[in-house]
Amino acid sequence: MPLTATLTPPKKEEETLLFRALDTDHDGRVSRQTIEQVLKVSGVDPRQSQLAETFDLIDALPEEQQSQLDLETFSRCIKPNISLFTRVVKGELVIPDFHIFGREIGQIFQDCLSDTSGANAGYIPELRNAASERFGISIFTVDGQQYHRGDCDEAFSAQSTTKTINYCLAVEQNGLDLVHRHVGREPSGRVFNELTLNDAGLPHNPMINAGAMMTCSLVNRGLAVDERFERIRQVWQELASDTEVGFDEAVCRSESATAHRNWALAHYMMEKNAFPENTDLSETLDLYFRTCSLSVTCRQMAMLAGSLAAGGVNPITNHRIFSSLTVQACLSLMSSCGMYDYSGEWAFRVGLPAKSGVSGAVIIVVPNVMGICIWSPRLDACGNSVRGIRFAKAMVDRFSLHAFDSIDLRTNKINPLVSRIQAESQEKATLIEAASNGDLMAVQHLLSIGADPSAGDYDGRT
Ligand code: GLU
Repeated sequence: MPLTATLTPPKKEEETLLFRALDTDHDGRVSRQTIEQVLKVSGVDPRQSQLAETFDLIDALPEEQQSQLDLETFSRCIKPNISLFTRVVKGELVIPDFHIFGREIGQIFQDCLSDTSGANAGYIPELRNAASERFGISIFTVDGQQYHRGDCDEAFSAQSTTKTINYCLAVEQNGLDLVHRHVGREPSGRVFNELTLNDAGLPHNPMINAGAMMTCSLVNRGLAVDERFERIRQVWQELASDTEVGFDEAVCRSESATAHRNWALAHYMMEKNAFPENTDLSETLDLYFRTCSLSVTCRQMAMLAGSLAAGGVNPITNHRIFSSLTVQACLSLMSSCGMYDYSGEWAFRVGLPAKSGVSGAVIIVVPNVMGICIWSPRLDACGNSVRGIRFAKAMVDRFSLHAFDSIDLRTNKINPLVSRIQAESQEKATLIEAASNGDLMAVQHLLSIGADPSAGDYDGRT
């Protein structure tokens, strides 16, 4: 047997490595508090359902034991969530420095708070009388890290944000080709409820009213309208990590009573034979009003957006809700058509798929990273939340999240996807390695991106 084989230590189990990492005072014990603390700093809520199994096991231990888990108990308890724990402890979650990220987001929230411009939507009393001062921001990453600030648990009606999910459902149930035989995918360049169709006599896209009524006509066909709606609500609950999604009856009644323009659009589309055969207009509109009246919180909308960011998988429950291709189609349309008449400017300035609604909600998706919901009822002239727009602009100015940030633009922004310490030590280590190998080209590369030639490593080597 070669000597090296005998010297290679046996591969330690993951649980043992994690235990050692957390047992910082080397007394062979790790407390529940330490586990909770390391999760919290990483943005992972210990109470969230993804971790329920681990905490159920810990809860079942006698109290004294909870504050001093030995290796064996620790291993047994974290086993059901081992992959998440491993990534937390190794700093491998999608936003590694989550506490720093959260601090910056908190500052942006604070800056936006003073902006009291704009006005609530006025066309129905429920929106007109909503508390204008409300402001909440919630974020869920694809790894289930979460951040909440302000009025995150207050319910509001989903309004036009529902257009995203109705579209996904229509695509899942009918396929992309069939859906787009009934609705286009170009920005309309017109206001969201304008009485206009494209050259083929179809609504321009699924993110404006005409298109959203069209996608509604394609969801859960063949069932009674109550059942169609309940099934949609069920999907919303799955997107919101199996939490209860409400229904605001008063909003629905008001929507229905003021829907002259929507009816005009629906009849216009009927005249053009745009709907699938046997479409019942009043059922279709009823379903559309009901979905606009789903009652959600900022927290729930961020989970929904996080599920879109994760390609259709809920980041907390890990359940797949939509296929990745469906989500890709939806995000593409959100990128070009999601922000009413401001969609082009939004794509230019913020560069991320988003959808807003007249209740003051804006959902933003950073694909493969996170979903964000901002809710604040005062709207600008385009019908978007004033604070929502302001927040988004400030966020992409501070973080390199705009889809088209080039490398040199990124150097002046924080990249939330890398750990600052890792990035800095990597740069120093590479510089030292390159210099000691006499690799002038590599040294020049590093200096050109601003590496500090006199920065030392942890031993002071330069
Ligand atoms: N319920 C609204 C309508 O159809 C949707 C408004 C919106 O959020 O864009 O007029």
